[in-house]
Amino acid sequence: MFDSHAHLTSDAIIDSVDALLSRAQNAGVKNIVNICTNPITLERGITLAKRYPWVYNAASTTPHDADTEGESVFPLMEKHAKMGDLIAIGETGLDYYYYRSTADIQQHFLRRYLKLALECRLPVIIHCRDAFADLLTILDEEYCINGIHPPGILHCFTGTKEEAAEIIARGWYVSFSGVVTFKKSDALRAVVETVPLEQLLIETDTPYIAPQSQRGKTNEPAFIQETAATIAMIKCLTTQEIGTITSNNAKKIFNV
Ligand SMILES: [Zn+2]
Repeated sequence: MFDSHAHLTSDAIIDSVDALLSRAQNAGVKNIVNICTNPITLERGITLAKRYPWVYNAASTTPHDADTEGESVFPLMEKHAKMGDLIAIGETGLDYYYYRSTADIQQHFLRRYLKLALECRLPVIIHCRDAFADLLTILDEEYCINGIHPPGILHCFTGTKEEAAEIIARGWYVSFSGVVTFKKSDALRAVVETVPLEQLLIETDTPYIAPQSQRGKTNEPAFIQETAATIAMIKCLTTQEIGTITSNNAKKIFNV
C-alpha cells in the first residue's frame, strides 16, 4: 500500500508517530507522503524522512491558511522545493466551504504554487471544496503547457462524476480517502467506478476522516486497508491488486 496523503507531522500525532509508522508497516503500508502545511510540520517532516526513508514530504500552505500565512511561508516552501526536499507541492487549492481565507487570496497562492511546481518539475496535490469551476479555470491558465497538463492529484476526492471526468481528462490522478467507506457514500462509490485504474490513488488524510469501522478515532495509515478493500469491491479486484495498482501509480507520479 502507498498512502498518498497523510499529515504525519501534525501536532495531533507527532508524539506517537513512531508507533503509528510501525503499525503502518505491519499493515503493509510501504510508502507514505507526509503533507507539511507550515514551517513546523515541514521541519519535522524533513527530520522524519531522514529516519524513515520510505516517508516522503510534500509542502505548501493550505487554502485555509492562505490569508494568515501565505506570504510569510511561501519563501520557505520554495527554498525546500528547490533544494530537493519535496516530492510534490501541496496541498494547495481552493476551499469555498469553510472560507477561512478569502477567495482571491486562495487563488493567488494556488497560482504561485502551480508556478513553483512547474519551475521545480514537481507534481501538485490539490485540495478543492465547493470551488471546482474556479479550480479548473486556474489550472488551465497556469498549469498547462501547449495543451499538456503537467502531473497532479485531486486529493480526498468527494466530488461528482462530472468533476472526476474533468480531472481524468487532464491526465490527473483522483485520490480517494476513507470517505469512500462511509455508509452514506453511495454516490462517491459510483464515482470510483468511473475512474480508470491508471489514474487512481488511495490515501488516509491522517489524522482526519478515519474509515467507517474506525469512525471517531484518530486516523492513521494502517487504516488504508479498509479504503483499498472498498475500492477493490467496486472494481471487482482483490485488495492486494488495488494496493499494487495504486502503489505503482503513486511511484510514477511522485517519481520514487
Ligand atoms: Zn490533507
